[in-house]
Amino acid sequence: MSGTFEQTIFHKIVAGEIPADKVYETDEVLGFKDIHPKAPTHILFIAKKEEDFVPSIADLTEQTVQVPGKLIRAAQEFAAQKGIDGYKLTFNVGAGGGQEVFYLHLHLMSQTELS
Ligand code: AMP
Repeated sequence: MSGTFEQTIFHKIVAGEIPADKVYETDEVLGFKDIHPKAPTHILFIAKKEEDFVPSIADLTEQTVQVPGKLIRAAQEFAAQKGIDGYKLTFNVGAGGGQEVFYLHLHLMSQTELS
């Protein structure tokens, strides 16, 4: 990493330093179960590549503007694969917006339980 930002728990998950219950993975995106689920299905999607690292939607630049789209595309693909037909997608932005981990992540929450 560049060293500009403190390492977060999600950096450690990407690096394999701490475990996560992974449910989706491509070259660019990782999806894993939220450790404190707020819905029967609650998945977090994060970008894996260093150049795609951004702490929050509030920090997006021209270089990283495509990252949220990659996360949304991953969530869409995951939901289709799992037959989840209705879900909420959320980015919490900043401490005032409920963001606790400053490594951009997309929440997918659904009342449909994973089979
Ligand atoms: P946010 O509040 O948007 O920053 O969301 C952070 C989410 O990360 C919360 O819903 C936490 O429950 C979740 N979380 C924190 N640590 C872990 C972990 N080690 N594995 C999975 N989810 C985590």
